[in-house]
Amino acid sequence: MATDKVSEEYGSLLFTDKDMQERLPKPTYKKLMQVIKEGAPLDIDIANEVAHAMKEWALEKGATHYTHWFQPLTGITSEKHDSFISPKGDGSVLMTFSGKELVQGEPDASSFPSGGLRATFEARGYTVWDPTSPAFIKDEVLCIPTAFISYTGEALDKKTPLLRSEVALEKQAKRLLALFGQKPHRVYTTIGPEQEYFLIKEEDYQARPDLILTGRTLFGCEPAKGQELEEHYFGAIRPTVNEFMKELDDELWKLGIPAKTKHNEVAPSQHELAPIFEKGSLAIDDNLLTMEKMKLIASHHGLVCLQHEKPFDYVNGSGKHNNWSLCADNKNLLEPGDDPQDNLQFLVFLACLVAAVDDHADLLRMSVASAGNDHRLGANEAPPAIISVFLGDALTPIVEALVKKEQPEAHDRESIDLGVPQLPEVLRDNTDRNRTSPFAFTGNKFEFRMCGSQQNLSDPNVILNTAVAEQCERFVDYVADRADEDFTTVAMRFVRHTFRDHQRILFDGNGYSEEWEAEAARRGLPNLKTTPDALPALIKPENIKFFEKYGVLSESEVHARYVAKAEQYAKLLNIEANTMVYMTRHMYLPALFDYSGDIATSVATKAELGIDAKAEKKMVSVLTDGINAISDAVDDLEAKNAQAKGLEDPQAADDCYRDVVIPAMTALRTAVDDMEKVCGHDYWPVPSYNKMLFYV
Ligand code: ADP
Ligand code: MG
Repeated sequence: MATDKVSEEYGSLLFTDKDMQERLPKPTYKKLMQVIKEGAPLDIDIANEVAHAMKEWALEKGATHYTHWFQPLTGITSEKHDSFISPKGDGSVLMTFSGKELVQGEPDASSFPSGGLRATFEARGYTVWDPTSPAFIKDEVLCIPTAFISYTGEALDKKTPLLRSEVALEKQAKRLLALFGQKPHRVYTTIGPEQEYFLIKEEDYQARPDLILTGRTLFGCEPAKGQELEEHYFGAIRPTVNEFMKELDDELWKLGIPAKTKHNEVAPSQHELAPIFEKGSLAIDDNLLTMEKMKLIASHHGLVCLQHEKPFDYVNGSGKHNNWSLCADNKNLLEPGDDPQDNLQFLVFLACLVAAVDDHADLLRMSVASAGNDHRLGANEAPPAIISVFLGDALTPIVEALVKKEQPEAHDRESIDLGVPQLPEVLRDNTDRNRTSPFAFTGNKFEFRMCGSQQNLSDPNVILNTAVAEQCERFVDYVADRADEDFTTVAMRFVRHTFRDHQRILFDGNGYSEEWEAEAARRGLPNLKTTPDALPALIKPENIKFFEKYGVLSESEVHARYVAKAEQYAKLLNIEANTMVYMTRHMYLPALFDYSGDIATSVATKAELGIDAKAEKKMVSVLTDGINAISDAVDDLEAKNAQAKGLEDPQAADDCYRDVVIPAMTALRTAVDDMEKVCGHDYWPVPSYNKMLFYV
C-alpha cells in the first residue's frame, strides 16, 4: 500500500463509497447502491441509517454543521448552514442528523432568481439530496449535494435539467447500443473541465472598485507590455503562485477532486487547472467546488483569483474547455475500436455528435452566452461565435470519402472492409489541434471551447446530452424503418447520409479568419454575436418541443430560464455602468482636477517669474479637453443607463444595453483611458495594467 501523503489524504474529506461500505450495515449499503447506481427509490429507513453514518463520519472529521449545497440559476453554489445540535433540556446537547434532513431541505427560495416561476406558483422551494454526488466537508460543514426544485416540482437550479438530460441520453444510447448487440449496465457522459483564471495581488484588487463590483476592469489603458513575447504560456510559475497551486492541489485532493495539470496560460498572470475527467454531473460539482476553493486559497497568499471571462482588455480572457465523451461501463464510445464492427459503432456516434451540434448550434451558442463571455467569443482569442466542428486530419478524409461515395447500396460492405478497418492506426495519431475551433474532436473526446471561465457547465451539457439523445433515437428509428435490410449496410448509410446532410458544420480551417465568417454565412450557419442575439433561441417553439420531448425542461421551465438569463445580462450591465459612473465621478475626475489644477498653479507661478511654461500650458489644455470629454461621456452614460433600466421587457432591455449603453461605456472608457496615458502616476487613483499584470 502506498503511504505517501497524497494517497493517504486523497478523498479524506469526501464521504466515499469505501466510507459507506465500512459504516453501513451490509443490507443498507446494498440498498443505497441500488439507489445510486440504478436510480431505485429511496426509503426513509435507509435515509435515516445513511444520515446517521454520514453524521458520525463528519463529526469525526470535526464538522459542526451541515448544509444542502445547490446550484440556483445564478450558476454559483449556495448553502445555508445548520448545526447538528439538539438540546437535551438539561443544558447539554446531542448531535443529530435525520434521514429527512439528509433527503430534503427547505431554503428560502424567494431570494433566488426563478425567472418568474415562483410568481405563478408557490414561493417555497426544496433542495433534494443527489445521492450520485458524494457528500464532502468544507470548513467544518458537511455539504450534501442537492437539486433545487419548486413546490410544484419545477427545476429552480442548474443541476436538475442536467440530471434529466443524462437520463435521456442514457436511455437513447442504450437503445442504439442494443442494435450493436451490447447491453451495458450504465451509459454516462464524462467531462473534463479545464479552468482558466487570473491571479493578482490583493492590494491591487482592493484599490479597484471595478474589480470588486464587477469582476473585471472597466477602465485601464494598454500596458507597455502585453502577451506579445509569448513567454508566459507554460513558463516558470512565480513562487507565490506556486505556493497557491500547491495548497489548492492539496485541498482539492482531500475532496477527491482529481486535479492533474497546472500551468501558466497565455496572458500575463493567467493560469489553468485541468482535472482528470469524471462522470458528467460529478465533474461539474467538482468544478464548482474547485472555483470556490481557488478564491478562498488565493486569499491565503495575498492574492485574488479572478474568474471573470475578461478581467483585462488587451490580453486574453479566460474560458473553460468542456471535454466531453460518452462511456458505456468504462468503455469510451468515442474511442475508435480495433475491428470494423467497433469502428462502425464509433462512426455512428461520431455522426450523431456532428448532427447534434449542427441541429442545435443555436442552443449550444445560447448555452454559453453571458455578458462576460461576449468579450471573448469572436475576439480572436477564443472560438468565434459561429459554431463548427473540427474533425482533424485523420477523420476528415474518411468522412469526405464516405460522403463523396456515389455507389449503390450493394457496395457499402466493401467500403467498410476497405475504409473503416484502417481507422484505428490513423486515428491514434490524431493529436493535431486546431485551437480556433469551437467544437473539436481530439482523438477520443470532443472539446467544446466556447464556455466561459465563470460559468456553470450544466447549461452546455444539458444541450449536448439532449441533442445527442435525439440523434441516438434517430438512428434507432432509422434502423427500425429498414428492418428487412442488412444492419451494417443500413448503419453505414446512416453515417454517410448524416455526414452528407451536415457537412456545412464541418470546418477544419482557421476559425479566427474573416474568410470563415463569410463562408459560414454562405453555409447558413448562425452567427449570434452577442448574448441578446443568442438568448431567444431558448424559447423558439421547436426548441421548447425538443426539451419537452426528452423530459429535460417543461415549457414554463424554459421560459423561466430565458427570463432569468435575460435579466442577468441586463443587471450585470447596469452594475457595470453604475460602477463606471461612480469611479469617474468619485475617482477619475477629482484626480484629473487635482493634477491639472496643480500644473495650472505652476504655470501661473512661473508666469509671475516671467517664465513661459510652454509644456505645462499645453498639458493643462490637454487635461482640460480630456476632463470635458470625460464629463460629457459620463453624463451620456448615466442617461443611457437610466433609459435601459426603465425598460420592463427583458429582451428590450438587453437590446438597449447592447446597442445604447455598451457604446456609451466604451466612449467613457476611451476618454478616461486617454487621460490615464498622460496623468501623473502619483495622481492616478487606481493601479495600472502595468502594475496589476506584472508582479513578483
Ligand atoms: P489540452 O491540450 O486541451 O489541455 P488534454 O489532453 O490535456 O488537453 O486534456 C484536457 C482535459 O480533457 C482533461 O481534463 C482530461 O481529463 C479531459 N479528458 C480526457 N479524456 C476525456 C474523456 N474521455 N472524456 C472527457 N474528458 C476527457
Ligand atoms: Mg483544452
